[in-house]
Amino acid sequence: MKCVICHSEDILEENVMEEFKHGNDIIVVPLKTMVCSSCGERYYSKLTVRKIENIERQIEANKLPMKEVGKVMLAG
Ligand SMILES: [Zn+2]
Repeated sequence: MKCVICHSEDILEENVMEEFKHGNDIIVVPLKTMVCSSCGERYYSKLTVRKIENIERQIEANKLPMKEVGKVMLAG
């Protein structure tokens, strides 16, 4: 597999923090996916895409178990 951005073949499975927006909130979900070691581009398998869609559905329904770990501050 080659990276479509930088053409590197250095694509490895990594733990990433995927961000989801929910209104003004950002929900961070740890996920395992393929990441280009050279430019950081993320590649998702069909299974991971399905997992992400499932997470989005759970977020919409307020059914995703989560805890507040910090606040996002907007200056001004
Ligand atoms: Zn790349």
